[in-house]
Amino acid sequence: MTLLSLPPSAVHGDFFPFDGPKGVLAHAFEPGDNMGGDVHFDDDEIWRTGHRKPGFNLLTVAVHELGHSLGLSHSKDPSALMYPKYKRFSLTSPRLPTDDTLAIQALYGKRITKPETPTIPKKCQPNFSIGAVTMLGNEILFFKGSSVWLRTPWMTSWSRVKEGLISTLLPSVRSVDAAYNIPHTGVTFVFTGPKYWMVQKLKMKSYGGSIYDYGFPTTVKKIDAAVHLREYKKTYFFTGHVYYRYDEALSVMDSGFPRKIQSDWPGIGDKVDAAFQFRGKRILSSTI
Ligand SMILES: [Zn+2]
Ligand SMILES: [Zn+2]
Repeated sequence: MTLLSLPPSAVHGDFFPFDGPKGVLAHAFEPGDNMGGDVHFDDDEIWRTGHRKPGFNLLTVAVHELGHSLGLSHSKDPSALMYPKYKRFSLTSPRLPTDDTLAIQALYGKRITKPETPTIPKKCQPNFSIGAVTMLGNEILFFKGSSVWLRTPWMTSWSRVKEGLISTLLPSVRSVDAAYNIPHTGVTFVFTGPKYWMVQKLKMKSYGGSIYDYGFPTTVKKIDAAVHLREYKKTYFFTGHVYYRYDEALSVMDSGFPRKIQSDWPGIGDKVDAAFQFRGKRILSSTI
């Protein structure tokens, strides 16, 4: 075929004029200078967004040509996008055919997947609820999911709140279900599932043991909230619809417990997310 017999649109500024309808649909240059990586589409084809005949799906051809732009050659695998014959491809699938994936990885390497960084929830969301609250030294700690907020009580603005991941504050603790502190000892107890830790300073924790050491029955798998009431030297543990009272001085669970939360703490709802005593005020929080 000579250039003269080609439609004028076939000649387009490189040494590879197109051939009119059908035949060569498009071509691409391998990576390099000037035209390197460029893709040209034959203007004499009918380009479609769908798969109606006659014509060709632009996206299918473009993906194939961009494969060449990136340096891929043709594949012998009929299921590959780099197979040299046009065929209908479902590009709604987010997965590249295996042959193409291996080919591009051979040139550029595998994707390095970053470790997932948990997102810190926004504390002003209307449905925001706190997982646990406690004091640690002079600071109030609010726990939620894998995040923690530190607030120094005499600083009034929320902008003074520091936030971060629990694991940076308490290494190897991923989330906190409940926490309480005993002010005169300076010890804060942090609960995750059936385990607890004792924390005396930020980044300094020691493994406390299991919640069953407190005398919980094995039907209790986690604590929802805990609060120590200084004046009685008692700690209240909320779990599900009930609560337990623990005598810190005698290190025993008080008899007569568990009791229903709703019957003794009316108005709070039948589950407690977090409990906290601050300057003598008891604060219970729940989402209903
Ligand atoms: Zn061209
Ligand atoms: Zn090709």
